[in-house]
Amino acid sequence: MRAATPPILPGKTIGILGGGQLGRMFAIAARRMGYRVHALDPAPDCPTGQVADVEWSAPYDDVATAVRFAGAVDVVTFEFENVPYETLQAVAELVPVRPAPLVLDTTRHRLREKTFLSTHGYPVAPYRAVSSVDDLRHAVTQLGTPCILKTATFGYDGKGQTKITDAAQVDAAWQRLGQPMGVVEGFVNFRCELSVIVARGKNGALKTFDVAENDHKHHILDVTVVPARVPEATKRAAIDLATSVARSLDLVGVLAVEMFLVEDGTPAGRLVVNELAPRPHNSGHFSFDACVTSQFEQQLRAVCGLPLGDVDLMRPVAMANLLGDVWPTGGGEPAWDKALAVPGVKLHLYGKTEARPGRKMGHLTCMADDVETARARVLQARAALPG
Ligand code: AMP
Repeated sequence: MRAATPPILPGKTIGILGGGQLGRMFAIAARRMGYRVHALDPAPDCPTGQVADVEWSAPYDDVATAVRFAGAVDVVTFEFENVPYETLQAVAELVPVRPAPLVLDTTRHRLREKTFLSTHGYPVAPYRAVSSVDDLRHAVTQLGTPCILKTATFGYDGKGQTKITDAAQVDAAWQRLGQPMGVVEGFVNFRCELSVIVARGKNGALKTFDVAENDHKHHILDVTVVPARVPEATKRAAIDLATSVARSLDLVGVLAVEMFLVEDGTPAGRLVVNELAPRPHNSGHFSFDACVTSQFEQQLRAVCGLPLGDVDLMRPVAMANLLGDVWPTGGGEPAWDKALAVPGVKLHLYGKTEARPGRKMGHLTCMADDVETARARVLQARAALPG
């Protein structure tokens, strides 16, 4: 029998690929537990670099720098999916990369992800791969309208998506795609959107956070409430689905499973998987304030081979994203003092200096005795911000 590798204990150094807000919150969790953190990102003074011990600024395809970075750390994880496979492979030759590069390679490519899900029997929206305008026309005829054309790579927050409501829009949609390959999906008429954040340890242990209910605006997550306002049977099904996907991927780390809940005549409804992300996720930010262990600490524990933490939700919670749009157009800061006067509201800012419309700059959370109160208060706080 192979001897178990020992855990990576506090005092050791974690490398994180990607320097955004997910890495920042991971670094905060890791440093709190006495780890050293190195962050690699193309942009200097990135959100993760600001709180890491060491910031490495280099393009992701700079394999030589990635190799030096790997030489300085004990384990590598990531918060950004589009690190080239060659870079990940070079790093993985020197130091453990968790989750494994293969997991990343599956989930960051929409067609590979859909193929993985459907061949393992997980429910997904009907889809077709398309690599020409004729393929697209044929797919739209088969799937019907409305449907959504999505890029196979670099797609998130609705980027690279075109809704096709009429077959006459096929040519224009193909022009907009700007990639040699895309995926067309049937439009899902969902009751609501849910997500489950699941963690899986090196020993196969699994822990899932409470099911989150998510509202999107312009394809970007807007508000999350936890616990989700859906029947218990739906929650159980969502958790079973997420844990099963984590096992099928042989995941070591954290995975977000985004789902649509669809009416099917039963009280519990039917779940359809929309997307996977093998890292902490925006819809899990509530856990930073509201759970015994946050999704970021859980990622740390999983990649270090430590026991997974207790995921109990301490109180009902709501999270509202803060996009660049809440910053005053003429410059200056939003009215943080007004938002923070609302009971239970907490502020998270990611240290980004340029507030562009649609850019995720931070979020608010609010805990209360019930989700309706938490939601109303977090929205009240956000509404108090502009100008
Ligand atoms: P995505 O970038 O694929 O996660 O999509 C962002 C958002 O667009 C989702 O959270 C949904 O609100 C919406 N969306 C994506 N795909 C579909 C679909 N097939 N049917 C209906 N809405 C969708």
